[in-house]
This record gives sequence, C-alpha cells and structure tokens, in this order.
Amino acid sequence: MASKRDYYEVLGVERSASDAELKNAFRRLARKFHPDRSTEEDAENRFKEIQEAYAVLSDEQKRAQYDRFGHDGPQGSSFGGFGGGFNINLEDILGGDFFSSMFGGGGRRRRQSGSDILLRHTVEYTDVLNGTEQEVTLDLPHPCDACEGTGAEGGRLTSCKACSGQGQVRVRQQIGPFVQEAVQACRDCAGRGQVSDVSCGECNGNGQQMKSSTLRFNVPLGAEDGTRMRMRGKGEPAPQGVGSPGDLYIELELAPHLFFERSGSDLIMSLPIGYADLALGTSVTLDHIDGEPLVIKVPPLSNSGETVEVRKRGLPRQRGGGRGDVVVLLKLHMPKKINRATKKSLESLRETLSPPDVQTAIQDDAEERRRR
Ligand SMILES: [Zn+2]
Ligand SMILES: [Zn+2]
Repeated sequence: MASKRDYYEVLGVERSASDAELKNAFRRLARKFHPDRSTEEDAENRFKEIQEAYAVLSDEQKRAQYDRFGHDGPQGSSFGGFGGGFNINLEDILGGDFFSSMFGGGGRRRRQSGSDILLRHTVEYTDVLNGTEQEVTLDLPHPCDACEGTGAEGGRLTSCKACSGQGQVRVRQQIGPFVQEAVQACRDCAGRGQVSDVSCGECNGNGQQMKSSTLRFNVPLGAEDGTRMRMRGKGEPAPQGVGSPGDLYIELELAPHLFFERSGSDLIMSLPIGYADLALGTSVTLDHIDGEPLVIKVPPLSNSGETVEVRKRGLPRQRGGGRGDVVVLLKLHMPKKINRATKKSLESLRETLSPPDVQTAIQDDAEERRRR
C-alpha cells in the first residue's frame, strides 16, 4: 500500500491549526473535489483523503493520538479505523446551497435519488404541551408494483444509446474563438444511463403509484411553529427504481390560540380589567390548555400596563426541561358608556383618586421613566 500523506499536508494547514482553520480548509477542498461536482482527474480519491484527514483532525482525541503516533496507532497497530466510516455532515459544513446548486449542475449521483416531500401539518397548543401522537393518512408515491419502479414494461430497461450507458456526454461548445469541451448529463436518459423502450402501462412510465399511507409521529415537546421533522426514505421513490428514495418532511404549523401568543416557552395574554379590580386586587380563573384552572392573581394597587406571571404554566422548555410561564398584561378596561348612578359615584371619588398635585405627579413620572 502506498504510504499515506500527512493529514496536515492533505488539508494544507499548519500543525498548530485551530478548529476554525481546519474547517475552512476542509470546506474549500471539499467543494473543489466533491466527486459529484468536481472535474478534477482524481477527485474521488482526493475527496476521500480530505474527508479522512478532516475526520481525524477535527476530533480532539484522534488528533492528539495522530500527533503522537502518526498514521500508525499505538503499539504499531495501524490507524486503519480512521479509514472507516466518517460521520461528517457535509450539508452542515458546505451549506445547503452547495447541494442545491449541484442538483441543477448535472451531478449524477444526486439525480438518482427521489425528491423530498414536504407535508404541512397543523397542531394545537395542547399538542405542543403534551407531545401528542399524530396520525396522518394520505396518498404517497411508492414504486410501481408492475414495473418495480423502473417505469419500463415488465421492468425491462436497456442501455441508453445516446451515451452508451454512461449517463454523460461530452459536448463541444464554441465560445468566441475557443472550443470548449465539457461533460454534461445525457438528455436522453436524464443522466441515468438506462432507458425504457416500452413504458409501463400501469404507471405511464413514471415508475410510481400512489398508495394510501398512514404516518405516525409525536409532536416534539415545546415545538416551535415551523418545526420540521424528517422521515427518512418516505419521500418520492428513486427514478427508475435506482438509488435511494427521498425523505419526507413534516412541517408543524401551530394553530392560533383564542387569546395566547407564545414567546419561546412563555404564553403571553392580555387581561382587560376594571379600575376597581386594579385598585383593590382580584383573582380571575380561566380554563387552561393543561386542563387545570389557570388562576391569575391581580395584587391590590396594580397599574394598567403591568404584568403578572403565573409560573410554570406555559409550554415545555426545549432545553433544560420544565415549563415556561404565563405572562399576563393588565389592561384597564374602559366601559363604552356609564350610567348616571356610576357617574355620580365617580364624581364623588374624583378627587381622592387623582394625584394630589399634577405638577409633582408629572415630574415624578418623568423621573421614573428616565430611570428605566
Ligand atoms: Zn443516455
Ligand atoms: Zn409501472
């Protein structure tokens, strides 16, 4: 076996490189040599080499071992384990745009897998609170039984004549005085290298049939509006039955509540309340999403615009456990009209309820505002 290149050399970084420098180097090289996109001669091997170097050096423990022992592990045993599977999330490191641009760019491998499906599903606040199990029944595409997903009569595919089964063709383009040669996905077979001479009658050649499917999943506790859950392999079948099916994403939509809004795990509401209740204090009891009565205690001498909190009666916290709070904004309720008797009562209270001196009250208020 040819001796391996030094991992630092492979990534073109110093031995003292920081994690960020490693990641940058890997990102740059992976974009250059990704076999689905690269036109470099030895892209596939280079890519493997880069991936292996990064997998080792980005792992603190493996890097320390490598620094001490090089490619040979302790006791002379080879670090062959490094050559095994790497769990590097390329999509995270390279960004989704890398793959989406690849998609239209004639990337062959990518084309062979089925498309993803996005399904929107509405849930209630109680579902987010309890993480309830959901059951959705709908028609989803499956590989056609008659042709095993190939789209060809009897499942018989033949090698594409236009590209001799390669899936790619070389094209010459005249750009001004220059002739450029480029590799493109074959149009006749959409880059797959195979075609069906006779289309399957059952599925009209698209290789799919709709079947009623039941999906079961749990709403994640405290899920935000727009949370997406992935069901691997439940998307569209791969074209011609070659490659892996796409994924199904379920996007949760939180149905609006009658009066709550959420802020993270807290539930926010406003409570219109009369002047006497603000001044004397009161207690208001409401039905709540957790099934227990929600008791809001308004202390005496509360002001309109202040908030009171009912602790731990909000939605589940996604980190750290427990529940958020219900935050209640107190709002002075002003009646649309008042009768003569009430008017008379208020007249008698006008003086005692007003600030003793307007000038001082204005200044005190201004000062308080500045302090905040
Ligand atoms: Zn072809
Ligand atoms: Zn079929």
